[in-house]
Amino acid sequence: MSVKLLRLGATIGILGGGQLGRMLALAGARLGLKCHVYSPPDADSCAFQVAAASTCAPYEDEAALSTFAAAVDVITYEFENVPAASAAFLARRCVVLPDPAVLAKTQDRLVEKEFVANLSIPTAPFAPVGSAAELQAAIATIGRPAVLKTRRLGYDGKGQKVIDPTDDPASAWASLGHAPAILERFVPFEQEISVIAARSQSGQVECFDLAENEHRDQILKVSRVPARVSEGIAGRARQIAETIAHAFDYVGVLAVEMFVVSEQTGQTVLVNEIAPRVHNSGHWTLDACSVSQFEQHMRAVAGWPLAKPIRLARAEMINLIGAEVEDYAQWLEVPGAAIHLYGKREVRLGRKMGHVTRVSP
Ligand code: AMP
Repeated sequence: MSVKLLRLGATIGILGGGQLGRMLALAGARLGLKCHVYSPPDADSCAFQVAAASTCAPYEDEAALSTFAAAVDVITYEFENVPAASAAFLARRCVVLPDPAVLAKTQDRLVEKEFVANLSIPTAPFAPVGSAAELQAAIATIGRPAVLKTRRLGYDGKGQKVIDPTDDPASAWASLGHAPAILERFVPFEQEISVIAARSQSGQVECFDLAENEHRDQILKVSRVPARVSEGIAGRARQIAETIAHAFDYVGVLAVEMFVVSEQTGQTVLVNEIAPRVHNSGHWTLDACSVSQFEQHMRAVAGWPLAKPIRLARAEMINLIGAEVEDYAQWLEVPGAAIHLYGKREVRLGRKMGHVTRVSP
């Protein structure tokens, strides 16, 4: 790929207007770049508040997409479920980074898992579920407990069902509306970790220190850095992220979520999921690292060299979910706490409203 080097004052288009877009736009502004956020009318687009320009239109609106593409120097996204046809439409008019082909692979859990497995990177055993017969066959090969997940549009535990040995698999699938799905073996993991990696247009890869993640109701609640893992596990996790980034010819920041499991031969890691964007478990980098994941993404998209990240402190990032944000004032007095409120209009159950990073030497 030929490197597209943006000049100071150039405009980066961002598809998606949530908190990730907001933090990307803020990082862009710090680097002297402008951001133009494109987000649909039904979203609570808090990124509009901090962007130099914004377009509020559906992803399917070709006239609005054309105008957007003509107004920016490069396009990226903070939301991986941008319709593939819209990303392809934009890519015919402007450089889109990472390449929309990455979206096609990561929007479908089955395609993503097959992609990872083809790189000889271990995952939980999985099987496709597209019919009652396939469900039966999958249960026979994967066993129980297992997790049934819709192939598309699942996040934060949505579109997922654990199937215990006494559960009826058919009714579990019915509860997911018989959507095309995959069945995965339930992994008795010891820890969940993630690697946030950035890859530049020239192929340079830089990883941040690993985060150890704690979920509540399948939504990320706390990330702690550094993760309490051995050097061997940390090295392997970084190597996996790097392999995936190169295999995608990726440009920008991506997150790889992994399970740490104990086997007879020792500890190992399994890949759970790839997020082709900046990620919640990398928010700590805003307050406890020499460069944030958001700046790193903007550098990559702009064709600039990546920074070598140096972690400055231990960090604990706590998400403020739903009504928890109403108690934000209590954090204002906590020593070493950096508070980030996303400015969303509406508090909703399960919605990420802000986060706090507690740093300690
Ligand atoms: P996901 O949407 O795939 O990231 O899943 C959300 C959360 O559900 C993960 O972070 C895990 O805590 C849990 N989970 C997902 N898949 C599995 C699995 N195969 N075994 C055990 N727990 C899982």
